[in-house]
Amino acid sequence: VAREPARPAMHPLNPYRDRRPDYRALSKLYPDELGPHVRDGAIDYTSADAARALTTVLLRNDFGVDWTMPQDRLCPPVPNRLNYICWLNELLALRAPTHEPEPVRGIDIGTGASLIYPVLGVSAMGWAFLATEIDEYSLQSARDIVERNGWQSRVDLRHVACKNASTQPLRAVLRDEDGNFDFVMTNPPFFASIDEISPNPHTACAASVAELVTPGGEVAFVSALIRDSLALGSRVRWCVCSTRPGANLR
Ligand code: SAH
Repeated sequence: VAREPARPAMHPLNPYRDRRPDYRALSKLYPDELGPHVRDGAIDYTSADAARALTTVLLRNDFGVDWTMPQDRLCPPVPNRLNYICWLNELLALRAPTHEPEPVRGIDIGTGASLIYPVLGVSAMGWAFLATEIDEYSLQSARDIVERNGWQSRVDLRHVACKNASTQPLRAVLRDEDGNFDFVMTNPPFFASIDEISPNPHTACAASVAELVTPGGEVAFVSALIRDSLALGSRVRWCVCSTRPGANLR
């Protein structure tokens, strides 16, 4: 494994913090998936196919997960998404769960076609999830991942009708019988309109409009989540949300 300088933005318990994946070795282990995308030990990050192949192989090799997703949806980088899970795990450790010995239970709002947070939360931490999504096509892909891995009792997938989704992202899906949750997490669409987006030329992005745009952008989405979390009171212990770096947080 190639050792590189530690990346300070990464959580200390994130195994990718100071060990980047060895693409050359992985392409020998997974020649069909990764072989075509590795040249001289490097990967072309601008290729969406290469990004998807890398995520497939990392989830298989490092987490034992059988994973796939369609080409026309956002493919998550594993080290970055694992970081969120590690920070959240640290928050959860601040207080003992109130419902032991059951597993930690969380909600992932907008789980995407990749189901990435439940995939990592179940396989790395043993958590259970209620995962929501407005896009039926992405939800079908998420359902496929749940079934491939036999996680039907670990991951509850729920479609959210668009009508109330952005104004009540939590209350639009939560039912009384769902009980309490240890956390709500989300990596929401950040933008209010497609015109705000300037693509990063260094990474592949096959995202659909619903993955990037929500009415009012992230400010409206985070505000709605705060209102929902206040209304739900102690039913949800932590409410965490990723935001666009440097855009709206002061
Ligand atoms: N969690 C994945 C996908 C993030 S993209 C990842 O981190 O890679 C944001 C996702 O949220 C998209 O799949 C979009 O369809 C979904 N979404 C947007 N608004 C939503 C809402 N109000 N409720 C549920 N899902 C929503």
